Amino acid sequence: MTKPADTLDLFFDSTKCFIGGRWVAPVSGDYLPIEDPSSGAEIGRIARGNADDVEAAVSAARAALGGEWGRMPAVERGRVLTRIGQKVLERVDDLARIEAMDVGKPLKQARADAVALARYLEFYGGACDKIMGETIPYLDGYTVYTLREPHGVTGHVIPWNYPMQIIGRSVTGALAMGNAAVLKPAEEACLTAIAFAKLAEEAGLPAGALNVVPGLGEEAGAALTAHAGVNHISFTGSVGVGQLVQRAAARNVVPVTLELGGKSPQLVFADADLDRALPFLVNAGIQNAGQTCSASSRILVHRSILDEVTDRMAARYRSLRVGPAISDLDVGPMVSARQQEIVDGFLGDLGGAEVAARGELAGDAPAGGHYLTPALLSGVTPDNRLARDEIFGPVQVIIPFDDEAEAVAIANGTDFGLVAGVWTQDGGRQMRMAKAIRTGQVFLNNYGAGGGVELPFGGVGKSGHGREKGFEALYGFSVLKTVAAWHG
Ligand code: NAD
Repeated sequence: MTKPADTLDLFFDSTKCFIGGRWVAPVSGDYLPIEDPSSGAEIGRIARGNADDVEAAVSAARAALGGEWGRMPAVERGRVLTRIGQKVLERVDDLARIEAMDVGKPLKQARADAVALARYLEFYGGACDKIMGETIPYLDGYTVYTLREPHGVTGHVIPWNYPMQIIGRSVTGALAMGNAAVLKPAEEACLTAIAFAKLAEEAGLPAGALNVVPGLGEEAGAALTAHAGVNHISFTGSVGVGQLVQRAAARNVVPVTLELGGKSPQLVFADADLDRALPFLVNAGIQNAGQTCSASSRILVHRSILDEVTDRMAARYRSLRVGPAISDLDVGPMVSARQQEIVDGFLGDLGGAEVAARGELAGDAPAGGHYLTPALLSGVTPDNRLARDEIFGPVQVIIPFDDEAEAVAIANGTDFGLVAGVWTQDGGRQMRMAKAIRTGQVFLNNYGAGGGVELPFGGVGKSGHGREKGFEALYGFSVLKTVAAWHG
C-alpha cells in the first residue's frame, strides 16, 4: 500500500516569483499554503504575488520585447521551445509526482499532462517559423503584403485542474509567436507553472520572455488582467471570472481569449458500437475526478438502448476505486474542500433523479482528503439543474431521447457549447449531427481524440470564445499588419 507523501521534493523554490529571469520573493513578503488534496496536509508555500509583482513582471516582459527575445529569429525561438520540451521530458516523473500532490490527480493522469506539455513545446517549437503572411494582388504600381506580428505582452490566467496542459496550449503558443508572457497560475495548484519557468530558464529562454507570478485571483489575477501594459489576455477558468476578465480587457481595448466551462454531451444512438463507446462514455466523466472543462457530464441515450447503456455504465461505476493520487487508482480526490462541498451540494438535491451507481473509496484514503465517490445518475430530465449546470465533479447524468431532433435539442439546450461526442455507425447521421450540434469540437465515434495538441479548441456560448491549440492558436496570439507599398 502506497502512503501519500507529506513533503514535497522540488527542483525549484516554490516560494519565489520568476520575473525578468530572476527568482524573487513577493514584494509583500506574504505567502499562501500549498495543500495536498489527498490528505488535506499543508506541504509547502507559494508566493502571494500582488499588483506590485505584476507591475514588475509586465515591465520585464516589455523589456524582453525590446531585447534579445524580441530580436530572436523565429527559427531560434523554435529551438528554445523545443529545448524546453526536452527538459520537460527529462523531468516527466518529477513533474507527474509534483502535479499529483498539488492537484490530487492520479499519477498516470499527471504524467500524461507532463507528456502533453512536452508535445505542445515540440509542436509550437516546430511551428514558429511556419506562420507566414501573404502577398495581395492590388492596383497597378502597388505591392501589398501582410505581416504576422506578436501582440506584445500577453497575460495568461489559468485554473488548477490541468496546469501543465493549459500552460502548453496557452503560454507556449504565445511564446511561439514572439510575445512575452506573464503567467498567473491558480492559487490551488501552481507548482508545475513554477517548474515550467525553471525548465525554461535551464533551456536558455531569454530573461523576461516568461514571467510567473503566483497569487490570488482577486489580487495578482485582477491586477494582470486590468494592466494597461498587457496587449492580449488568455483566460481559462469559470464563467463568472471570465466575465470580469472580459470587462477588464474592454477597459484597455485588448483582445481576450476565454476558455470557460462546459456541460458536454455524448449522444449514443441505437446503432452505436457500445463495446467501443463504453470506456469513452465513463472515462470522459470521471477523468481528473470530473474536474475537466471538456468532461462529458451528460450522456444522451436513445430510449431503445437506455437500460443496456445504464446497466453497463453502472457496472463500470461500481468498479471505480477512489483514493490518494499517489496510489494511482481510477479517481483521486477533489482539489479542495470547497470543490467537494460544491459537488456534494449538487448530489444532495437530486430533483427526482436516481443514483444508478457510485464508485468506492479505497481503504487507504486518508481521512483529511477531499474524496467524493463518482455518481452515475439516471431518470434525469433536461430541465433538472444537474443536466444544465456545470458540476465540475465526477457526476454524469443519463438522459433518454427518442429521435435525432430531440437529441440535438437536448444537446444544444444548455448555455454551454464546448465539446460533444456522437456514437452512431450511420454516416449521414454523423454528418448531420456534426453540423447541428453547437460546440467548438465534435467527436464522431470517439471523445477527446487523445488530447489533440494539433486540434483547435474552444467554445461557443458561455463556454467562451477564441481558439487555442493547433495552428489556429498562433493566429490568435498574433496580429495581422497590412503593408501597401506604392512604387509606381
Ligand atoms: P476560476 O475562474 O475561479 O479561477 C481561474 C483562474 O482565475 C485562477 O488562476 C484564479 O486565481 C483566477 N481569478 C480568480 N478571480 C480572478 C479575478 N477577479 N481576476 C482575474 N483572475 C481571477 O476557475 P476555477 O474554479 O479555478 O476553474 C474551474 C473552471 O474553469 C470551470 O468552470 C472549468 O470549466 C473552467 N475550465 C475551462 C477550461 C477550458 O478550456 N474551457 C479548462 C479548464 C477549466
